Amino acid sequence: MKLGAHVSTAGGYSEAVRRVAEMGGNCLQIFSTSPRGWRPAKPGKEEKDRFKKAVKEYSVSPVYFHASYLINMAGSTEVREKSVSSMIAELKVAGEFGVKGTTVHLGSFKKGKSEDGQRPLFEEDSAVYETLFDNIRQVLKETPKETLFIVENMGMRKIGKSLEEIAFIIENLNDPRVRVCLDTCHLHAAGVDISTEELLDEFLGEFDRLIGNSLLEFIHINDSRDEFGSLRDRHENIGEGKIPGDVFSLIVNHPKTKDLPFIAEVPGFDGRGPDKENLDRIKAFVESDDRD
Ligand SMILES: [Zn+2]
Ligand SMILES: [Zn+2]
Repeated sequence: MKLGAHVSTAGGYSEAVRRVAEMGGNCLQIFSTSPRGWRPAKPGKEEKDRFKKAVKEYSVSPVYFHASYLINMAGSTEVREKSVSSMIAELKVAGEFGVKGTTVHLGSFKKGKSEDGQRPLFEEDSAVYETLFDNIRQVLKETPKETLFIVENMGMRKIGKSLEEIAFIIENLNDPRVRVCLDTCHLHAAGVDISTEELLDEFLGEFDRLIGNSLLEFIHINDSRDEFGSLRDRHENIGEGKIPGDVFSLIVNHPKTKDLPFIAEVPGFDGRGPDKENLDRIKAFVESDDRD
């Protein structure tokens, strides 16, 4: 199976490749730069050479970036400029480094909370989506064609909480470079039940109908510290949280998802990020003989 983790780039991107390989992973997600800042990714040529060598040496593929948490693709004025330019910088680096694309939390609209504090499926004022679409289109226009812009489903009151909204965005952008990443912790937070074969089938069928299977790029495989439907997003180590083990076992074996890359974004048993134990627990869910 394709299984990896989001790993620290301390010491350079190439160190992340080595780290994930050493914990038994064969694909990777990293931040191109600090996820809590606006400093654009600017790795040098030496870094590129080291990274490309490491990727080959350890057979780690694909590699994804995860965009900064400050990005709001629906932002206006200053946030808009910073969001667009940092996404452009990141995807340019992705193109040069052979990184497949970047996963982004689209952000939030200024308004749009209903009385119960939840966002409606769609904003009533559809004009608010136009800013979002314009911003994403600009990013796509100014970045290498081979790189992907990957929308992550959200568990909170953010853009991308429902398949309907993601489908609406994808359909309007109408660009094969726009893909989707599903995070098991965010699905749990949003109250999407995929804990039986029937429910997962139904959910993936709905995904296919609304968005299209071919646009499902990869899975973030995380447990959750919070209750089902809590709208909270605190990741937990696999098997230690509130997500039933059946969810993991079903999703790593389902014909529509089993061949996708799975990336763990868990706190780790020593609190220092994903580790071998988490990857081993995920591998143990895989039925059949193709565990590697
Ligand atoms: Zn994310
Ligand atoms: Zn995630």
